[in-house]
Amino acid sequence: MQKQESLQSNRIKPLTIKTPLYYDESISSWLIRAALNQGCDILTFTQFYWPDYRLWTYDVDKGFNHIDGQVHKDMAILADMHYRAFNSKTLMSFAERMGLSDSSKQINIPWTQPLTKRNRRALLGYQYCPLCMHSDKEARLKLSWRFTWTLYCVQHQIRLQSTCTQCEQPYQPQLLEANMRYINHCHSCKSKLAQATDNQSSYLLDDYSYKFQRMASQVYVDGFGYALGKKIPMQDWFELISFYVNIVRRAVSKPDYMFGKLLNSFGINTATITPPKTGLRLDQLPIDERIELLGFAIRLNDIDVSTWIRKCEEMHVTQNSFNWSKGMLIPEAFKPIYEQLPFTKVQERKSNKNLNTPRAPESVMKLWERLKRKTEMRELYDQDRLNYKE
Ligand SMILES: [Zn+2]
Ligand SMILES: [Zn+2]
Repeated sequence: MQKQESLQSNRIKPLTIKTPLYYDESISSWLIRAALNQGCDILTFTQFYWPDYRLWTYDVDKGFNHIDGQVHKDMAILADMHYRAFNSKTLMSFAERMGLSDSSKQINIPWTQPLTKRNRRALLGYQYCPLCMHSDKEARLKLSWRFTWTLYCVQHQIRLQSTCTQCEQPYQPQLLEANMRYINHCHSCKSKLAQATDNQSSYLLDDYSYKFQRMASQVYVDGFGYALGKKIPMQDWFELISFYVNIVRRAVSKPDYMFGKLLNSFGINTATITPPKTGLRLDQLPIDERIELLGFAIRLNDIDVSTWIRKCEEMHVTQNSFNWSKGMLIPEAFKPIYEQLPFTKVQERKSNKNLNTPRAPESVMKLWERLKRKTEMRELYDQDRLNYKE
């Protein structure tokens, strides 16, 4: 086995037509460009080097160290890079920095957008900035576009896109064929990714969510953030923001109820936005829904401890109100508020879960949206399979 492994690494030489991995580029982007540069179909390219793996059924941006270290090393050689430098470009190294290393075996790394895959096809497209992708030769996908907090291109100040502006299919560069030559094309209609001219509003920058993006990037770089008048570790900051997002989701789905009223008392009017259609995790939501939720969550981050406590008291929000699920953990950073609130002892009620009790309408709608999403995915898959021989 050992021998075979060393033979395999001898087989791999840096590519003759060099395709350097840019400092901000994702591994999938580099692999796609490397294949196209060689005049090769992407699938043929990866199957040639790693015949044992159907590489594109994995999230390539995670790197392969957790699956097969040899594949990972091979890639570093192809990219003509030191193994450790290559490793720093992976989502796994992102997870480690975020203190999420225990979750390495999880399918989705929190705070990154999953590329939900059915085989090699995804329902969510890869996020991209049409202006960054304009030049054929320099077009590449940035690793930071995979982060859940990345909503806009910092350089061009426009909202990121994830579908083709011509045919509206999710942008899936891993399905490009060799004759497309550059990564900035749609695999489905073959047109170049361009900025749509008829719908400028879908590119506009929203101040609050942009503020959130800048703040989150800064916290990620610094390793600490500020909340409720204190300097706190990065992990605590992101945990607090996730908690705020959950409060916002509760307020948005019931604007006239407790959290809706509480946010209203802070001057945050949640009745203006539509609740996420599916009820999926934040990371899995489309960009327009994330923009709304994160834009509201960051406004909660501006409220100080005494205002929180005063308003909670006025609105009869107690400790119990925040324990909305079994085993709910209150974020460390929120405890200075939480611990000041009254707690009411609730009598253990006998579970009256009755199978005949109908579901609430909103939960039926969420189920329905999720089912629609599944069907859409199935249709995309079938349609692609007809057009594309694997
Ligand atoms: Zn850009
Ligand atoms: Zn298209």
